[in-house]
Amino acid sequence: MRVKVQNEILVSCSKRITLKNVSVFSDYNKKNWNKGSFMKQKIHARHLSEESWHALSEQDIYEELLTRPEGLEKEEVTNRLNLYGQNTLPAKEPPTIWAILLNQVLSPIIYILIVAAVLSLIIGEGTDAIFIFLMIGLNSGLGAYQEYGAEKSAAGLQNLLKIKAKVRRGNQEFEIPSEQVVPGDILLFESGNKVPADLRLIQAQNLTVDESFLTGESISVEKNTELQSEDVRVSDRKNMLYAGSTITKGRGAGIVVATGNSTQVGIIAKSVSESEGGKPPLVLRMEKFVKQISILVLLVSVGLGFLLRYQGYDLLAIFFFVVALAVSAIPEGLPVALTVALSIATKRMSKRNVIVRKLTAVESLGSCTIIASDKTGTLTVNQQTARKIILPGGREFSLTGEGYNGEGKVLVDDQKDFDKNTKKQLEDLAKLTVFANEARLYSKENGWDYNGDAMDVAFLAMAYKMGLNPEDIRNETQFIIEIPYESEQKFSAAFYKEENIDYVAVKGAVETVLDFCNIMKSADNIQTSLNRQLIEKQAVEMAEQGLRVLAVAGGEVSQLKEGDDYGVKDLKDLFFYGLVGFIDPLRPEAAESVRKCKRAGIKVLMITGDHPSTAGAIARELGLMDLDEEVVTGQQLKEVGTLDSPAFEKLVLSTHVFARVTPTQKLEIVEALIHHGEFVAVTGDGVNDAPALRRANIGVAMGSGTDVAKEVGMMIVTDDNFASIVSGVEEGRFAYDNVRKVIYLLISTGAAEVIMLIFAILTGLPIPLLAVQLLWLNLVTNGIQDVALAFEAGEPGAMRRKPRKPNEKIFDSQMMSQTLVSGFAIGALAFASWYWHIRNQMMDEASARNTIMLLMVLLQNVHVFNCRSESVSALKIPISRNYTLILGVVMAQGIHILSMHLPFMQRILSIEPVNFIEWFIALLLALILLFVMEVFKLGRRRNDKIAAYSKGEDLE
Ligand code: ADP
Ligand code: MG
Repeated sequence: MRVKVQNEILVSCSKRITLKNVSVFSDYNKKNWNKGSFMKQKIHARHLSEESWHALSEQDIYEELLTRPEGLEKEEVTNRLNLYGQNTLPAKEPPTIWAILLNQVLSPIIYILIVAAVLSLIIGEGTDAIFIFLMIGLNSGLGAYQEYGAEKSAAGLQNLLKIKAKVRRGNQEFEIPSEQVVPGDILLFESGNKVPADLRLIQAQNLTVDESFLTGESISVEKNTELQSEDVRVSDRKNMLYAGSTITKGRGAGIVVATGNSTQVGIIAKSVSESEGGKPPLVLRMEKFVKQISILVLLVSVGLGFLLRYQGYDLLAIFFFVVALAVSAIPEGLPVALTVALSIATKRMSKRNVIVRKLTAVESLGSCTIIASDKTGTLTVNQQTARKIILPGGREFSLTGEGYNGEGKVLVDDQKDFDKNTKKQLEDLAKLTVFANEARLYSKENGWDYNGDAMDVAFLAMAYKMGLNPEDIRNETQFIIEIPYESEQKFSAAFYKEENIDYVAVKGAVETVLDFCNIMKSADNIQTSLNRQLIEKQAVEMAEQGLRVLAVAGGEVSQLKEGDDYGVKDLKDLFFYGLVGFIDPLRPEAAESVRKCKRAGIKVLMITGDHPSTAGAIARELGLMDLDEEVVTGQQLKEVGTLDSPAFEKLVLSTHVFARVTPTQKLEIVEALIHHGEFVAVTGDGVNDAPALRRANIGVAMGSGTDVAKEVGMMIVTDDNFASIVSGVEEGRFAYDNVRKVIYLLISTGAAEVIMLIFAILTGLPIPLLAVQLLWLNLVTNGIQDVALAFEAGEPGAMRRKPRKPNEKIFDSQMMSQTLVSGFAIGALAFASWYWHIRNQMMDEASARNTIMLLMVLLQNVHVFNCRSESVSALKIPISRNYTLILGVVMAQGIHILSMHLPFMQRILSIEPVNFIEWFIALLLALILLFVMEVFKLGRRRNDKIAAYSKGEDLE
């Protein structure tokens, strides 16, 4: 149903557009344009999309859009950018500061305060009312400012994820930001790319495209370059690509016919880049928690109110007391502090090369129990260098040199001559790998430049080392059709003509390529039948040294029949030309990161498309699996049973390294792990990885990966590095810890005030703190501190713990006990001081309140230090881990002392200056809290040790 409706919209849209008046360039303009003086005139007012581009020939489109196969020139691009604007759709506006501010004010606690302020006004307590309004303003302003900052830095990070497009301009191919694409540009595509504009295809090889966002059709559609009749509907235009779709397979090229708002998506005004809005679940959970607490506190406050009434307080005093109590106990700063903590974490992660697309990822990273990683590029550097060649006759050769350049030599291993025959054999092999190749590698004045797939570039480097020039070879060859490399098929091939005979060149995984061969040339250039066993033995020997082994094949193919195309079916009876082994060094940090994971209770898996022997050699070197453990192959997985069979799950759970795995199997492995209750992070880069990335608890896309992978990934690792993923996990744990610390601080100080008030009522003493005073303590002094606590750098112990359970409650027994103990300690200290002053009639009530206020601020100051760690002594945490906190504490104390000296504030808060001795005594009293909490932590540490000891674990 949905599909149909959308199609109708599309068709009617493309008809209606005739009314719009974006220009197309006329013949008149063309001349001027070609001279480089394009005039910004709109000659005939036709909209680009009015054209039935699908029904025009390639040549007509070049003429219509004043472009050519070599692409536009620089000047043309500038002109068109001016004329058509950037290739963007109207994005969803980020919330304005006003919207955020309004959101702050719309909270139950603010309503209570407003009622209180209005009541104060009515009874003539003008200053109280002003103060309350001031508090509201300050609190909302602070909150809004923080949220706005978080929003903005999140938007900044999103910018890093912009899509690039490969363009041909001035006969050169390079990448540009997709916003700079203009009509008439020639764009090139490969699987995994996102289409940035509407295009008419001029080249399509095996091209399939996912257009589901436009048509609702979830199956990928095949595309070609054939001319179509004019009345074909948008969704059936096989020779068009539409902005927002993704290439699922193959390669293609097209002419941009519409950009920005003129594209089909632009017309139906549907944003392609849906931004992932919404608050992270942790924040939502906390907001709910605050709401529940609020209700509870209100009920308790009203109850206490009745009690006070019974004791003879007058109604108004009670009302203000109830309001104050409610404000004390409700942690209204919590959601904001959480947002700040999470946004600090995202910023810290981005410094460690991890970009979090959804704030959710920050908190979930801390729960990760398994990281399933790619091998190539993630655990290794993906700097492939050909190291060894074995020719069919068995002669072995070594190659020297490092990295992507042509510098290096080919050496004969057996010290015998480099005869002409051998040389020719090597050159033939190298040539084939240049044919079946999509990359480029060339020398410039200042070094070498390259682009394309790492394996392909490595083959080109090998060709240079043999004295060949791949650039020339490719230019001189007449290609018929190419089968580009896709990780599912594990090979690439190219059909080409030489002296009117059709040939094919193939390179790829050994098993796959050998299936295409039945002949090989022996050392003395005699043709023999393929000795598959021997070749596979040679391949395994190379792989066991950690080399990645590829086979090369080629040969004549039978002449094409009319109306047929070459394809995989023609890959048969080929010559086997030899094996090439590549090294891809381990990332230097990888082994240490694997160790770090082990300590943190995280299992590391390797899932690779490479050969089991290569995978095994590398995994053992990394310490990822034991020396005697076996690698499990995709074939074995298939044989053991289906996804839901117990045998499958058992095999998956007992394995560390999976090799020759298809993308579907990768998904199945993830499913099995999740089903078993693991919390899985999975890495991926290709189109085929998308399902696994989506299914995983944390999809990790590689920075160098495809647009598709990045779009479904929850986080993106910009340097592809395994170590960065581990850093991400570490930062995730830090963030979660900080969230706990902030909650600890806020709830325990709130609880303390409630406890103190209850004590006072139970003992029949006057109320220790007035409503405005409590407001001050909670919204100002503590408000400054709690945000500073969110800046706390992580504790080293975070990566020596087991992962936390994903559904673990923040208010676990540990949180409960530390909140109660510290809340009770603060409440009791403040109350004791009050009791002593009042009972001994040391001073009048007002002066006593002044002392208690100061004591409370100092207690808050001390308690922040307690909250820096839930188990480590406050005295052992280096100051350097959070300078912001020191600033926050000094500011909180400073602002209070300042207020004691400002007449205006003195009047509102009923406070006055104290002398240094008094201040010092209050500080000493406050330090008792530190002592109490140190003893508490000591007990905890001892308990933890006993628990670990009885479990036989070793706590470092
Ligand atoms: P990984 O999981 O390590 O990234 P890939 O999926 O990239 O492995 O590669 C799987 C196999 O496909 C390789 O072992 C190799 O045999 C083959 N292969 C990889 N790249 C190419 C290429 N550019 N051309 C031909 N074959 C390739
Ligand atoms: Mg790969």
